Amino acid sequence: MSESGITMKASDLQRYKSLLLAKRDLLLAEFDTRIVAPPASVPEGDLLDQARADAEADLQISLRQSDNEILREIEGALVRMNRGTFGECEVCKKPLSKARLEAVPWTRVCRECKEQSA
Ligand SMILES: [Zn+2]
Repeated sequence: MSESGITMKASDLQRYKSLLLAKRDLLLAEFDTRIVAPPASVPEGDLLDQARADAEADLQISLRQSDNEILREIEGALVRMNRGTFGECEVCKKPLSKARLEAVPWTRVCRECKEQSA
């Protein structure tokens, strides 16, 4: 077995791919629910309630943005799979740990590089 480059087993790759696709489906399903869901009812309330409702709406928006970001990352990961560069840190080029890929299969950088850029 060669130590150079990405030597990921096809079975592992397949598993990460199904993780990515499952997560993508989940996110897309969530988008759908949010679109059809009626707006959160605001009890005829005081300004405090109104402020809280506003804050929740903001939170929803920011959540949606991060979901969008994850969706983009997932698409990117699928592209990298086709190119054969999936599982490699974009910065230091080292293979990503299995544990990291299990948790966030769409990640592009290893934890060390992520922490340095944060
Ligand atoms: Zn790295």
